[in-house]
Amino acid sequence: MKIIADLHTHTLASSHAYSTITENCEIARDRQLKVIALTDHAPLMPDAPHEWHAANQYVLPQTIRGVCVLKGIEADIVNTDGDLDIPDYVIGKLQWIVASFHEPLFPPLSADDHLAAIENVCKNSLVDVFGHLTASGYPFDYSEAAKLFTKYDKIVELNEASIRSGATKKINAVRLFEACKKEGVKIAVDSDAHYCERIGDFSAVCEILNEVKYPEELIISTDFDYIINRVNQNHPSAPKIEMTAMRG
Ligand SMILES: [Zn+2]
Ligand SMILES: [Zn+2]
Repeated sequence: MKIIADLHTHTLASSHAYSTITENCEIARDRQLKVIALTDHAPLMPDAPHEWHAANQYVLPQTIRGVCVLKGIEADIVNTDGDLDIPDYVIGKLQWIVASFHEPLFPPLSADDHLAAIENVCKNSLVDVFGHLTASGYPFDYSEAAKLFTKYDKIVELNEASIRSGATKKINAVRLFEACKKEGVKIAVDSDAHYCERIGDFSAVCEILNEVKYPEELIISTDFDYIINRVNQNHPSAPKIEMTAMRG
């Protein structure tokens, strides 16, 4: 299996991360990745850049150091209605949207509340991926959630940084991805890198993938065409990516 994409990464625009876009792209190129998504934090997180940072990403070229760069964001789920902290004038411009629970914006509630929030986020057609869903403190019914992910065509990520830091217990990740496998959910393998050397480093999550024996055809991080087609179809107001130009 060859992973060619890292779809959850931070730059120093999120002030608890430490590398530039160019440094991230150089490491991505060196590790033979074809795509990375820029997913700095959305405006309500304490370390986030001003909303103009997300809105202005169109000034960046589509390819940097030979790597296709998706202009994205890691949005915060702010309530059980599934609202996100992305201003309306910004959300349509983005090519990749990760939605995550973060304690400052969504202090843990009950498992039913977490599932309700997940269901409502699923109804937002612009959201691509749920970020680090197995972080401790956010239990929910994995079987019910997996049905929703399939129904609404959402991607669930296996998050390297969350596993490495201990924020996710491995057993929770195994249980969630077993439930996802049963329902045929698409997944992504993401570094959530906060430093360039972490881009494309998936060693902890690959252990879990091997344990769960996740079907390769459901791991979108191996599929360049799927990713680019999804961006073009699901983000109709964002800049289109020319597939042929990207293939070189
Ligand atoms: Zn996060
Ligand atoms: Zn993140």
